[in-house]
Amino acid sequence: MTARDQFALVGRISGGRVIDPGSGLDSPADILIDERGRISRIGRSGSGASSVESDGDVLDATGMIVAPGFVDLHVHLREPGREDEETVASGSAAAARGGFTTICCMPNTEPAIADQETVRFVLDRALAAPGRVHPIGAITRDREGKSLAGIAEMVAAGAVAFSDDGAPVGSAGLLRRAMQYSRMFNVPIVEHCDMPDLSADGVMNEGLVSTKLGLRGIPPVSEEICLARDIALARETGAHLHAAHLSTAGSVEIIRRAKAEGVNVTAEVTPHHLILTDDLIARDFDPLYKVNPPLRTRRDVDALRQGLADGVIDCIATDHAPHAEQEKDGEFDLAPFGMVGLETALGVCVKALIETGLLDWPGLIDCLTRRAARAFHLAAGTITVGSPADLVLIDPDAQWRVTPESLISKSKNSPFLGWELTGVVRATIVDGRLVYQDFAAGSSLSTAARRERSVTSTAKR
Ligand SMILES: [Zn+2]
Repeated sequence: MTARDQFALVGRISGGRVIDPGSGLDSPADILIDERGRISRIGRSGSGASSVESDGDVLDATGMIVAPGFVDLHVHLREPGREDEETVASGSAAAARGGFTTICCMPNTEPAIADQETVRFVLDRALAAPGRVHPIGAITRDREGKSLAGIAEMVAAGAVAFSDDGAPVGSAGLLRRAMQYSRMFNVPIVEHCDMPDLSADGVMNEGLVSTKLGLRGIPPVSEEICLARDIALARETGAHLHAAHLSTAGSVEIIRRAKAEGVNVTAEVTPHHLILTDDLIARDFDPLYKVNPPLRTRRDVDALRQGLADGVIDCIATDHAPHAEQEKDGEFDLAPFGMVGLETALGVCVKALIETGLLDWPGLIDCLTRRAARAFHLAAGTITVGSPADLVLIDPDAQWRVTPESLISKSKNSPFLGWELTGVVRATIVDGRLVYQDFAAGSSLSTAARRERSVTSTAKR
Protein backbone atom coordinates (compact mmCIF):
# COMPACT_ATOMS: atom_id res chain seq x y z
CA MET A 1 0.00 0.00 0.00
CA THR A 2 1.46 3.31 -1.09
CA ALA A 3 0.11 6.82 -1.48
CA ARG A 4 -0.47 6.04 -5.16
CA ASP A 5 -3.30 3.66 -4.30
CA GLN A 6 -5.50 6.60 -3.37
CA PHE A 7 -5.35 7.95 -6.94
CA ALA A 8 -7.72 6.78 -9.65
CA LEU A 9 -6.63 3.86 -11.78
CA VAL A 10 -6.41 4.54 -15.52
CA GLY A 11 -7.72 1.73 -17.71
CA ARG A 12 -7.07 3.15 -21.14
CA ILE A 13 -5.46 6.16 -22.78
CA SER A 14 -6.94 6.65 -26.18
CA GLY A 15 -6.28 8.72 -29.25
CA GLY A 16 -2.92 10.21 -28.36
CA ARG A 17 0.33 10.37 -30.33
CA VAL A 18 2.38 7.77 -28.48
CA ILE A 19 6.10 8.51 -28.53
CA ASP A 20 8.41 5.89 -27.03
CA PRO A 21 12.03 6.49 -28.07
CA GLY A 22 13.03 3.11 -26.62
CA SER A 23 11.01 1.16 -29.16
CA GLY A 24 11.01 3.81 -31.87
CA LEU A 25 7.24 4.10 -31.62
CA ASP A 26 5.77 7.40 -32.79
CA SER A 27 2.19 6.99 -33.94
CA PRO A 28 -1.43 7.32 -32.85
CA ALA A 29 -2.11 4.47 -30.43
CA ASP A 30 -4.18 3.39 -27.46
CA ILE A 31 -2.53 2.17 -24.29
CA LEU A 32 -4.36 -0.31 -22.10
CA ILE A 33 -3.53 -0.67 -18.44
CA ASP A 34 -4.44 -3.63 -16.24
CA GLU A 35 -5.63 -3.75 -12.62
CA ARG A 36 -2.05 -3.94 -11.34
CA GLY A 37 -1.20 -0.69 -13.12
CA ARG A 38 0.89 -2.39 -15.80
CA ILE A 39 0.72 -1.76 -19.53
CA SER A 40 -1.21 -4.68 -20.99
CA ARG A 41 -1.52 -3.60 -24.60
CA ILE A 42 -0.43 -0.92 -27.04
CA GLY A 43 -2.73 -0.93 -30.01
CA ARG A 44 -3.58 1.00 -33.09
CA SER A 45 -5.75 3.94 -32.18
CA GLY A 46 -9.45 3.16 -32.44
CA SER A 47 -8.93 -0.59 -32.71
CA GLY A 48 -10.95 -2.50 -30.17
CA ALA A 49 -12.47 0.76 -29.03
CA SER A 50 -14.70 -0.99 -26.55
CA SER A 51 -12.03 -3.10 -24.93
CA VAL A 52 -10.81 -2.08 -21.51
CA GLU A 53 -8.61 -4.34 -19.42
CA SER A 54 -9.49 -2.89 -16.05
CA ASP A 55 -12.33 -0.78 -14.74
CA GLY A 56 -10.08 2.26 -14.52
CA ASP A 57 -10.75 5.65 -16.09
CA VAL A 58 -10.48 6.23 -19.80
CA LEU A 59 -8.33 9.22 -20.69
CA ASP A 60 -8.98 10.90 -24.00
CA ALA A 61 -5.57 12.00 -25.24
CA THR A 62 -6.69 13.35 -28.59
CA GLY A 63 -4.28 16.09 -29.67
CA MET A 64 -1.80 15.12 -27.00
CA ILE A 65 1.53 13.37 -26.86
CA VAL A 66 1.67 10.28 -24.66
CA ALA A 67 5.24 9.61 -23.54
CA PRO A 68 7.08 7.61 -20.90
CA GLY A 69 7.12 9.48 -17.58
CA PHE A 70 10.22 11.67 -17.35
CA VAL A 71 13.25 10.60 -15.32
CA ASP A 72 15.27 13.17 -13.35
CA LEU A 73 18.67 12.07 -12.07
CA HIS A 74 19.34 15.22 -10.04
CA VAL A 75 16.85 16.58 -7.51
CA HIS A 76 17.29 18.13 -4.07
CA LEU A 77 14.39 17.19 -1.81
CA ARG A 78 15.63 18.83 1.45
CA GLU A 79 14.26 16.05 3.64
CA PRO A 80 15.54 15.32 6.21
CA GLY A 81 16.45 18.72 7.62
CA ARG A 82 14.76 21.50 5.64
CA GLU A 83 11.17 20.33 5.33
CA ASP A 84 10.12 23.99 5.15
CA GLU A 85 11.77 24.15 1.69
CA GLU A 86 10.73 20.78 0.27
CA THR A 87 9.89 17.25 1.37
CA VAL A 88 10.07 13.92 -0.40
CA ALA A 89 6.30 14.11 -0.90
CA SER A 90 6.12 17.76 -2.02
CA GLY A 91 9.10 17.39 -4.35
CA SER A 92 7.61 14.26 -5.85
CA ALA A 93 4.31 16.10 -6.37
CA ALA A 94 6.16 18.96 -8.09
CA ALA A 95 7.91 16.34 -10.20
CA ALA A 96 4.57 14.82 -11.21
CA ARG A 97 3.33 18.26 -12.23
CA GLY A 98 6.43 18.57 -14.41
CA GLY A 99 5.84 15.15 -16.00
CA PHE A 100 8.51 13.32 -13.99
CA THR A 101 7.55 9.91 -12.63
CA THR A 102 11.02 8.90 -11.40
CA ILE A 103 13.41 11.17 -9.56
CA CYS A 104 16.77 10.61 -7.89
CA CYS A 105 17.47 12.72 -4.82
CA MET A 106 20.85 14.09 -3.81
CA PRO A 107 22.31 13.34 -0.38
CA ASN A 108 23.12 16.90 0.75
CA THR A 109 20.38 16.88 3.36
CA GLU A 110 20.73 17.40 7.13
CA PRO A 111 21.80 14.80 8.09
CA ALA A 112 23.29 13.75 4.78
CA ILE A 113 22.10 10.55 3.11
CA ALA A 114 25.33 8.81 4.05
CA ASP A 115 24.25 5.61 5.77
CA GLN A 116 21.76 2.80 5.50
CA GLU A 117 19.31 4.36 7.99
CA THR A 118 19.00 7.60 6.06
CA VAL A 119 18.56 5.80 2.73
CA ARG A 120 15.78 3.80 4.38
CA PHE A 121 14.27 6.96 5.85
CA VAL A 122 14.00 8.56 2.41
CA LEU A 123 12.56 5.40 0.86
CA ASP A 124 10.06 5.21 3.70
CA ARG A 125 9.00 8.82 3.01
CA ALA A 126 8.75 7.94 -0.66
CA LEU A 127 5.89 5.56 0.15
CA ALA A 128 3.81 8.68 0.79
CA ALA A 129 4.94 10.32 -2.47
CA PRO A 130 3.04 10.19 -5.76
CA GLY A 131 6.06 9.19 -7.85
CA ARG A 132 9.14 7.00 -7.63
CA VAL A 133 12.05 8.33 -5.59
CA HIS A 134 15.55 6.82 -5.67
CA PRO A 135 18.09 8.06 -3.12
CA ILE A 136 21.65 8.89 -4.12
CA GLY A 137 24.06 8.14 -1.28
CA ALA A 138 27.01 10.28 -0.23
CA ILE A 139 30.46 9.15 -1.35
CA THR A 140 32.16 10.32 1.83
CA ARG A 141 31.03 10.17 5.43
CA ASP A 142 28.73 13.13 6.12
CA ARG A 143 29.94 14.56 2.77
CA GLU A 144 33.03 15.80 4.57
CA GLY A 145 35.46 14.44 2.01
CA LYS A 146 37.58 12.69 4.62
CA SER A 147 36.67 9.01 4.52
CA LEU A 148 34.42 6.78 2.47
CA ALA A 149 30.78 6.39 3.50
CA GLY A 150 29.27 2.90 3.70
CA ILE A 151 28.64 2.41 0.00
CA ALA A 152 27.89 -1.31 0.22
CA GLU A 153 25.29 -0.92 2.97
CA MET A 154 23.64 1.97 1.11
CA VAL A 155 23.47 -0.05 -2.14
CA ALA A 156 21.84 -2.84 -0.13
CA ALA A 157 19.32 -0.34 1.28
CA GLY A 158 18.44 0.98 -2.20
CA ALA A 159 20.80 3.82 -3.17
CA VAL A 160 21.18 3.95 -6.96
CA ALA A 161 24.24 6.20 -7.29
CA PHE A 162 26.79 8.04 -5.16
CA SER A 163 27.72 11.70 -4.97
CA ASP A 164 28.94 14.44 -2.66
CA ASP A 165 26.96 16.87 -4.85
CA GLY A 166 27.19 20.48 -3.84
CA ALA A 167 30.92 19.82 -3.87
CA PRO A 168 33.31 17.46 -5.64
CA VAL A 169 35.31 14.82 -3.81
CA GLY A 170 38.43 16.91 -3.22
CA SER A 171 40.83 14.04 -2.60
CA ALA A 172 41.78 12.19 -5.79
CA GLY A 173 42.89 9.24 -3.67
CA LEU A 174 39.53 8.97 -1.96
CA LEU A 175 37.62 9.36 -5.21
CA ARG A 176 39.80 6.66 -6.78
CA ARG A 177 38.95 4.26 -3.97
CA ALA A 178 35.25 5.13 -4.27
CA MET A 179 35.43 4.40 -7.99
CA GLN A 180 37.19 1.07 -7.47
CA TYR A 181 34.56 0.18 -4.91
CA SER A 182 31.63 1.36 -7.07
CA ARG A 183 32.58 -1.15 -9.76
CA MET A 184 31.66 -4.01 -7.46
CA PHE A 185 28.08 -2.74 -7.38
CA ASN A 186 27.86 -1.30 -10.89
CA VAL A 187 26.69 2.08 -9.58
CA PRO A 188 27.71 5.45 -11.01
CA ILE A 189 29.85 7.95 -9.15
CA VAL A 190 28.26 11.36 -9.72
CA GLU A 191 30.61 14.30 -9.55
CA HIS A 192 29.85 17.98 -9.09
CA CYS A 193 32.96 19.06 -10.97
CA ASP A 194 34.65 22.04 -9.39
CA MET A 195 38.05 23.00 -8.00
CA PRO A 196 37.30 24.88 -4.77
CA ASP A 197 40.63 26.72 -4.86
CA LEU A 198 39.72 28.07 -8.32
CA SER A 199 36.05 28.82 -7.72
CA ALA A 200 36.94 30.07 -4.22
CA ASP A 201 34.13 32.29 -3.05
CA GLY A 202 32.91 33.13 -6.55
CA VAL A 203 29.22 33.87 -7.00
CA MET A 204 28.83 33.89 -10.80
CA ASN A 205 30.61 32.97 -14.04
CA GLU A 206 34.04 34.58 -14.32
CA GLY A 207 34.08 36.68 -17.45
CA LEU A 208 33.23 40.03 -18.95
CA VAL A 209 29.99 40.38 -16.99
CA SER A 210 31.48 39.54 -13.57
CA THR A 211 34.29 42.00 -14.23
CA LYS A 212 31.83 44.75 -15.15
CA LEU A 213 29.68 44.02 -12.10
CA GLY A 214 32.62 43.65 -9.74
CA LEU A 215 31.38 40.25 -8.56
CA ARG A 216 33.76 37.39 -7.79
CA GLY A 217 33.85 34.85 -10.61
CA ILE A 218 33.89 31.08 -10.96
CA PRO A 219 36.05 30.35 -14.01
CA PRO A 220 35.00 27.66 -16.51
CA VAL A 221 38.37 25.99 -16.00
CA SER A 222 37.37 25.23 -12.42
CA GLU A 223 34.81 22.75 -13.75
CA GLU A 224 36.98 21.52 -16.60
CA ILE A 225 40.08 20.63 -14.55
CA CYS A 226 38.02 18.61 -12.10
CA LEU A 227 36.20 16.86 -14.95
CA ALA A 228 39.50 16.00 -16.63
CA ARG A 229 40.85 14.61 -13.35
CA ASP A 230 37.73 12.54 -12.77
CA ILE A 231 37.83 11.16 -16.31
CA ALA A 232 41.46 10.14 -15.82
CA LEU A 233 40.39 8.22 -12.72
CA ALA A 234 37.41 6.65 -14.50
CA ARG A 235 39.70 5.59 -17.36
CA GLU A 236 42.14 4.00 -14.93
CA THR A 237 39.60 2.30 -12.66
CA GLY A 238 37.02 1.42 -15.31
CA ALA A 239 34.38 2.89 -13.01
CA HIS A 240 31.28 4.68 -14.27
CA LEU A 241 31.64 8.44 -13.84
CA HIS A 242 28.53 10.57 -14.26
CA ALA A 243 29.28 14.28 -14.59
CA ALA A 244 26.51 16.38 -13.07
CA HIS A 245 25.25 19.63 -14.58
CA LEU A 246 27.82 20.41 -17.28
CA SER A 247 28.01 24.15 -17.80
CA THR A 248 30.87 24.98 -20.18
CA ALA A 249 31.72 24.49 -23.85
CA GLY A 250 35.08 23.09 -22.72
CA SER A 251 33.38 20.41 -20.62
CA VAL A 252 31.37 19.25 -23.63
CA GLU A 253 34.61 18.76 -25.58
CA ILE A 254 36.23 16.89 -22.67
CA ILE A 255 33.27 14.49 -22.50
CA ARG A 256 33.26 14.12 -26.29
CA ARG A 257 36.91 13.05 -26.31
CA ALA A 258 36.51 10.74 -23.32
CA LYS A 259 33.56 8.95 -24.90
CA ALA A 260 35.40 8.63 -28.23
CA GLU A 261 38.18 6.97 -26.27
CA GLY A 262 35.77 4.54 -24.63
CA VAL A 263 35.86 5.88 -21.07
CA ASN A 264 32.82 4.85 -19.03
CA VAL A 265 31.41 8.34 -18.61
CA THR A 266 27.93 9.85 -18.84
CA ALA A 267 26.84 13.46 -18.38
CA GLU A 268 23.79 15.59 -17.79
CA VAL A 269 22.83 19.21 -18.44
CA THR A 270 20.15 21.27 -16.71
CA PRO A 271 17.36 23.13 -18.51
CA HIS A 272 18.61 26.44 -17.08
CA HIS A 273 22.11 25.95 -18.50
CA LEU A 274 20.48 25.34 -21.88
CA ILE A 275 18.82 28.75 -21.96
CA LEU A 276 20.03 31.32 -19.40
CA THR A 277 23.23 33.36 -19.64
CA ASP A 278 25.31 35.29 -17.11
CA ASP A 279 24.40 38.71 -18.52
CA LEU A 280 20.91 38.29 -17.00
CA ILE A 281 22.52 38.99 -13.63
CA ALA A 282 23.57 42.45 -14.82
CA ARG A 283 19.95 43.47 -15.28
CA ASP A 284 18.90 43.44 -11.65
CA PHE A 285 21.31 41.35 -9.55
CA ASP A 286 18.45 38.96 -8.92
CA PRO A 287 19.60 36.08 -6.67
CA LEU A 288 17.15 33.82 -8.54
CA TYR A 289 19.88 33.63 -11.20
CA LYS A 290 22.48 32.47 -8.67
CA VAL A 291 23.23 28.81 -9.25
CA ASN A 292 26.20 26.46 -9.01
CA PRO A 293 27.68 25.83 -11.53
CA PRO A 294 26.88 29.38 -12.61
CA LEU A 295 25.05 30.54 -15.71
CA ARG A 296 27.71 30.92 -18.41
CA THR A 297 27.83 32.65 -21.81
CA ARG A 298 25.87 32.32 -25.04
CA ARG A 299 28.77 30.31 -26.50
CA ASP A 300 28.51 27.79 -23.65
CA VAL A 301 24.73 27.54 -24.01
CA ASP A 302 25.10 26.82 -27.72
CA ALA A 303 27.75 24.16 -27.08
CA LEU A 304 25.62 22.46 -24.40
CA ARG A 305 22.60 22.37 -26.71
CA GLN A 306 24.69 20.91 -29.51
CA GLY A 307 26.32 18.42 -27.14
CA LEU A 308 22.92 17.18 -26.05
CA ALA A 309 21.66 16.97 -29.62
CA ASP A 310 24.79 15.03 -30.65
CA GLY A 311 24.39 12.59 -27.74
CA VAL A 312 27.69 13.65 -26.13
CA ILE A 313 25.61 14.77 -23.15
CA ASP A 314 23.36 11.88 -22.20
CA CYS A 315 20.38 13.54 -20.65
CA ILE A 316 18.60 16.48 -19.08
CA ALA A 317 18.45 16.68 -15.27
CA THR A 318 16.91 19.58 -13.40
CA ASP A 319 19.15 20.08 -10.32
CA HIS A 320 15.88 21.21 -8.68
CA ALA A 321 17.16 23.12 -5.65
CA PRO A 322 14.43 24.63 -3.46
CA HIS A 323 15.27 27.54 -1.15
CA ALA A 324 13.14 29.48 1.30
CA GLU A 325 12.01 32.89 0.07
CA GLN A 326 13.85 34.87 2.74
CA GLU A 327 17.12 33.20 1.76
CA LYS A 328 16.82 34.16 -1.89
CA ASP A 329 15.49 37.61 -1.08
CA GLY A 330 18.72 39.25 0.02
CA GLU A 331 21.96 40.36 -1.55
CA PHE A 332 23.27 38.45 -4.56
CA ASP A 333 26.57 37.87 -2.77
CA LEU A 334 24.96 36.22 0.24
CA ALA A 335 22.10 34.25 -1.32
CA PRO A 336 22.44 30.46 -1.55
CA PHE A 337 23.04 28.77 -4.91
CA GLY A 338 20.20 26.95 -6.65
CA MET A 339 16.84 27.20 -8.38
CA VAL A 340 13.75 25.02 -8.59
CA GLY A 341 13.29 23.33 -11.96
CA LEU A 342 11.00 20.30 -11.95
CA GLU A 343 7.86 22.09 -13.09
CA THR A 344 9.43 24.31 -15.75
CA ALA A 345 11.82 21.75 -17.26
CA LEU A 346 9.61 20.68 -20.14
CA GLY A 347 8.62 24.19 -21.24
CA VAL A 348 12.18 25.48 -20.98
CA CYS A 349 13.49 22.54 -23.01
CA VAL A 350 10.82 23.10 -25.66
CA LYS A 351 12.08 26.68 -25.99
CA ALA A 352 15.76 25.75 -25.98
CA LEU A 353 15.66 22.63 -28.13
CA ILE A 354 12.45 22.25 -30.13
CA GLU A 355 11.72 25.87 -31.03
CA THR A 356 15.36 26.20 -32.16
CA GLY A 357 15.04 23.15 -34.41
CA LEU A 358 17.80 21.21 -32.61
CA LEU A 359 15.51 18.38 -31.52
CA ASP A 360 12.04 17.17 -32.43
CA TRP A 361 9.55 15.85 -29.86
CA PRO A 362 10.86 12.26 -29.93
CA GLY A 363 14.40 13.61 -29.52
CA LEU A 364 13.53 15.77 -26.53
CA ILE A 365 11.48 13.01 -24.89
CA ASP A 366 14.44 10.66 -25.33
CA CYS A 367 16.68 13.07 -23.35
CA LEU A 368 14.10 13.22 -20.56
CA THR A 369 13.34 9.49 -20.39
CA ARG A 370 15.32 6.60 -21.85
CA ARG A 371 18.68 8.37 -22.02
CA ALA A 372 18.37 9.44 -18.38
CA ALA A 373 17.25 6.02 -17.13
CA ARG A 374 20.05 4.31 -19.04
CA ALA A 375 22.69 6.52 -17.41
CA PHE A 376 21.72 5.23 -13.95
CA HIS A 377 20.64 1.71 -15.04
CA LEU A 378 17.07 2.42 -13.93
CA ALA A 379 14.20 0.29 -15.19
CA ALA A 380 12.17 3.29 -16.36
CA GLY A 381 11.71 5.62 -19.28
CA THR A 382 10.00 3.32 -21.78
CA ILE A 383 6.50 2.22 -22.73
CA THR A 384 6.62 -1.56 -22.71
CA VAL A 385 3.91 -4.20 -22.37
CA GLY A 386 4.25 -5.74 -18.92
CA SER A 387 6.00 -2.72 -17.40
CA PRO A 388 4.46 -0.35 -14.87
CA ALA A 389 2.40 2.31 -16.62
CA ASP A 390 4.52 5.39 -15.85
CA LEU A 391 3.34 7.91 -18.41
CA VAL A 392 2.90 11.58 -19.16
CA LEU A 393 0.29 13.28 -21.35
CA ILE A 394 1.58 16.48 -22.94
CA ASP A 395 -0.46 19.16 -24.65
CA PRO A 396 2.33 20.23 -27.02
CA ASP A 397 0.96 23.55 -28.21
CA ALA A 398 -0.76 24.79 -25.05
CA GLN A 399 0.91 27.58 -23.11
CA TRP A 400 1.10 28.59 -19.49
CA ARG A 401 2.60 31.44 -17.53
CA VAL A 402 4.95 30.63 -14.65
CA THR A 403 3.82 32.30 -11.43
CA PRO A 404 4.60 31.47 -7.79
CA GLU A 405 0.99 30.33 -7.38
CA SER A 406 1.27 27.98 -10.36
CA LEU A 407 4.13 26.03 -8.76
CA ILE A 408 3.38 23.06 -6.52
CA SER A 409 6.89 22.96 -5.04
CA LYS A 410 7.12 24.37 -1.51
CA SER A 411 9.76 26.80 -2.80
CA LYS A 412 9.23 29.32 -5.58
CA ASN A 413 12.83 30.29 -6.40
CA SER A 414 12.45 29.97 -10.16
CA PRO A 415 14.27 32.28 -12.58
CA PHE A 416 11.42 31.59 -15.01
CA LEU A 417 8.70 33.42 -13.05
CA GLY A 418 6.76 35.51 -15.55
CA TRP A 419 7.85 33.38 -18.53
CA GLU A 420 5.30 32.05 -20.99
CA LEU A 421 6.11 28.39 -21.68
CA THR A 422 4.81 26.10 -24.41
CA GLY A 423 4.01 22.46 -23.65
CA VAL A 424 1.63 21.70 -20.80
CA VAL A 425 1.66 18.48 -18.78
CA ARG A 426 -2.00 17.43 -18.68
CA ALA A 427 -1.63 14.17 -16.80
CA THR A 428 1.03 12.15 -15.05
CA ILE A 429 0.49 8.48 -14.40
CA VAL A 430 2.54 6.28 -12.07
CA ASP A 431 1.83 2.57 -11.72
CA GLY A 432 -1.33 3.19 -13.75
CA ARG A 433 -2.55 5.80 -11.25
CA LEU A 434 -3.44 9.35 -12.22
CA VAL A 435 -1.17 11.16 -9.74
CA TYR A 436 -1.45 14.56 -11.44
CA GLN A 437 -3.99 16.03 -13.83
CA ASP A 438 -4.68 19.38 -15.38
CA PHE A 439 -7.77 18.86 -17.50
CA ALA A 440 -10.62 21.30 -17.78
CA ALA A 441 -13.11 19.74 -15.36
CA GLY A 442 -14.28 16.38 -16.63
CA SER A 443 -13.29 16.99 -20.23
CA SER A 444 -10.96 14.09 -20.72
CA LEU A 445 -12.37 11.47 -18.40
CA SER A 446 -14.85 9.44 -20.36
CA THR A 447 -17.71 9.37 -17.90
CA ALA A 448 -18.33 10.29 -14.31
CA ALA A 449 -19.83 6.85 -13.82
CA ARG A 450 -16.65 5.11 -14.84
CA ARG A 451 -14.72 7.33 -12.52
CA GLU A 452 -16.97 6.48 -9.60
CA ARG A 453 -16.61 2.83 -10.30
CA SER A 454 -12.88 3.22 -10.25
CA VAL A 455 -12.91 5.10 -6.98
CA THR A 456 -15.06 2.36 -5.46
CA SER A 457 -12.77 -0.34 -6.69
CA THR A 458 -9.80 1.57 -5.34
CA ALA A 459 -11.41 1.96 -1.94
CA LYS A 460 -11.74 -1.79 -1.67
CA ARG A 461 -8.01 -2.29 -1.91
ZN1 LIG B 1 25.83 20.09 -7.97
